[in-house]
Amino acid sequence: MIRTLLGDVEGFDGVAYLHEHLILDSPLIADRFPHIHLHDVEAAVAEVTACRQAGAGLMVDAMPISAGRDAVRLAEISRRAGVAIVAATGLHHDRYYGPRHWTNRVGVDRLTELFIADLLEGVDIHDYTGPVVERSPHRAGIVKVATSGESPDARDERNLEAAAAASRATGAPVLTHCEDGRGGLAQIERLRDLGVPAGAVILSHVDKADDPGYLRDLAATGAVLELDQSLRDRDAGLDSRTVRAIVGLVEAGFEESIVVGTDGARRSLWASLGGEPGLAWLAAELPRLLRRVGLDDRVVDLVMHGNGARALSWRPVA
Ligand SMILES: [Zn+2]
Repeated sequence: MIRTLLGDVEGFDGVAYLHEHLILDSPLIADRFPHIHLHDVEAAVAEVTACRQAGAGLMVDAMPISAGRDAVRLAEISRRAGVAIVAATGLHHDRYYGPRHWTNRVGVDRLTELFIADLLEGVDIHDYTGPVVERSPHRAGIVKVATSGESPDARDERNLEAAAAASRATGAPVLTHCEDGRGGLAQIERLRDLGVPAGAVILSHVDKADDPGYLRDLAATGAVLELDQSLRDRDAGLDSRTVRAIVGLVEAGFEESIVVGTDGARRSLWASLGGEPGLAWLAAELPRLLRRVGLDDRVVDLVMHGNGARALSWRPVA
């Protein structure tokens, strides 16, 4: 079972975009990070519709609680563009909150309760930004957690504990943010100690590290590797970090450990906002590059679709 905003599905057709940003709308982002401020439903519907026309079937919106997520707008985008969207609960990097944010003043148990309610009941239409909680009918399908550096700090550790507890209780998979692509091994080790199997963990942005040995070590744990630098590296063609990472992992026998996304939190990447190349590039162009480096249809289909469908499936819980 995969939990999308518009309901649970057994599977889906088309390309799986595993790390997307369709709505990023908080006062902090508008003020400090205007280049990633994404608030326009019309633009998102146009962008995601172009992705569907290029072959997209499902997208994961990777913004978790109280930092610019909006499940109601995401559900509208999903319905109008005809692409399934999986929303995230959990917490992002501290830079999207700031030191005095309420999420930094509560403990593991309170966070865990809030994450589980997002997953099982419905995402708060106010996104946990105020004292009033009103649950939408749209539920989260994945738990996000971020770390920075090679090993988790105290905030990261608390967030890992809450994310793991929510995942253990529900069976929802975990999507991590690896700052500059690094820190994945420590994330896997910690989540595993906390009872989340490596196969239920998707490590984001790891091709940023551009380190073939590191990627093989990550894949050897059984975790899923999300590679999302291909749009940014598109001028490098077959020499892009993403393409080289995929080839290296496939050669090492890890073709079932690879998923892809755009990490498209840049207005400059959206065609509907006047940017280039547009998020549809992933579905339209990446498979061509993968075939040009000699990967066969079975492997291309795993990378573009099958592995993502498996990685997003909830595991049974006792
Ligand atoms: Zn992201």
